[in-house]
Amino acid sequence: MSKPHTIGCRVCGETKKRLTRGLCSTHYGRFNEKRKSLPPAAAEAFEAKCISEGWITENRQGRKEKDPDPFDELLDEVKAEFESDIASHVAAEKRREAQEEAIRQAKATKKRSTQRKAE
Ligand SMILES: [Zn+2]
Repeated sequence: MSKPHTIGCRVCGETKKRLTRGLCSTHYGRFNEKRKSLPPAAAEAFEAKCISEGWITENRQGRKEKDPDPFDELLDEVKAEFESDIASHVAAEKRREAQEEAIRQAKATKKRSTQRKAE
């Protein structure tokens, strides 16, 4: 596989054309065409791969729309922690319920047998 150009369009090296995300209009069009042919999740992976291999620059426009917000990341982290907490809490709750039920049944059996002995 060829390597992306470091000057001009990353695919053809064209420096006279206006570049979009590091590509001339022809190659940006080709990238977009291929990306659009994929389902959203695959399109995202395709774009990420193109970025990581250096064929296209990151979408700064999309980033500019949103102010960098450290709270977003922190929120996600806390959410993830909280969700796993809830999940483990639910699991623990279920375990406790099962245990209590087992104890209840054991007690009930015991009670019945003691009652029977008393009779
Ligand atoms: Zn090009």
